[in-house]
Amino acid sequence: MISIDKIGYNGKMIRDLEDEQGPNVKVIVPPKAKQDTGLFTSEQFQKSEDGAIVTCPAGHQSRSRKQTAGETREVYTFSANDCRECPLLSQCMAKPPTGRNGRSVSKKLYEAEYARVDARAKTDTYREVRQVHPAVERKFHELVNHHRARRVRYRGTAKVRLHAYITATAVNVKRLVKLLSGKLCAQAN
Ligand code: SF4
Repeated sequence: MISIDKIGYNGKMIRDLEDEQGPNVKVIVPPKAKQDTGLFTSEQFQKSEDGAIVTCPAGHQSRSRKQTAGETREVYTFSANDCRECPLLSQCMAKPPTGRNGRSVSKKLYEAEYARVDARAKTDTYREVRQVHPAVERKFHELVNHHRARRVRYRGTAKVRLHAYITATAVNVKRLVKLLSGKLCAQAN
């Protein structure tokens, strides 16, 4: 299991990390807050299996899709004529369309991955992991910024591993000294 800050809320990264043929680790990441506009959300628009068509709550279909910069989303646009005559218009758009385009809806390219981490974020495991996350994050900060753990001087996995073990041991000894000196001070008082 790996716990990442909100920068890890990235479908491709989640897919790569959870790949059973690859790292195969479960990702714990805070979900993105969703804005409540009171209008139909993108989840209420159904994407076909091949991703070619999206169907809106009124049953109309859009084949007009464009990929966003960063290639994490696709935007589908519905026909303005369909939207203008739609009985559900007030639940779908803040105002009727004026041009050729009706409602646009953005669908994530990695919906299954986002759904998985969103569901995980409602579990007790998520709460427990996120509670200890800041302490671990601080330790990484110390390793990287005070012990140059971002780079090693040697080549080869074995030497790199040894370097990491020695650095981690030094950090643990520092921690032990801090804890013990705190205890000793408390006893002396
Ligand atoms: S307003 Fe347009 S996109 Fe929205 S439900 Fe109606 S037809 Fe579909």
